[in-house]
Amino acid sequence: MDCIFCKIVKGEIPSKKIYEDEKVLAFYDVSPQAPVHFLVIPKEHFRNFRDISSDKLEIISHIFKVIQIIAEQLKLDDGLRIVNNYGKDGGQTVDHLHFHVLAGRSLNWPPG
Ligand code: 5GP
Ligand code: ZN
Repeated sequence: MDCIFCKIVKGEIPSKKIYEDEKVLAFYDVSPQAPVHFLVIPKEHFRNFRDISSDKLEIISHIFKVIQIIAEQLKLDDGLRIVNNYGKDGGQTVDHLHFHVLAGRSLNWPPG
């Protein structure tokens, strides 16, 4: 399967890793939209949040646990934003489930 993020998981494409365990990988976005901008992905390939069967939904809570750990490590105490872009209107460009974490500046709301 020709998936950029699966290739990052396998180490076939280099990434600047922040956190890794058996289920999840976090790495900096190659095109940062804020002073801190990283992605948290499951190692297993899901196309998007709707592609996760009920018996595998615990990956979502695990991802949020990992974001808690990284927020602590990076001292993101002034705030951050967690974003999941889904589908065409949501602006999803990579079809492997991922959560953006943006921090380090005041972020606009509502988003464009
Ligand atoms: P989406 O637009 O699907 O929500 O987010 C995909 C994100 O993946 C974008 O922010 C884009 O910059 C990032 N991205 C795409 N290809 C790569 C890559 O090869 N390495 C890294 N680190 N980020 C990537
Ligand atoms: Zn993938």
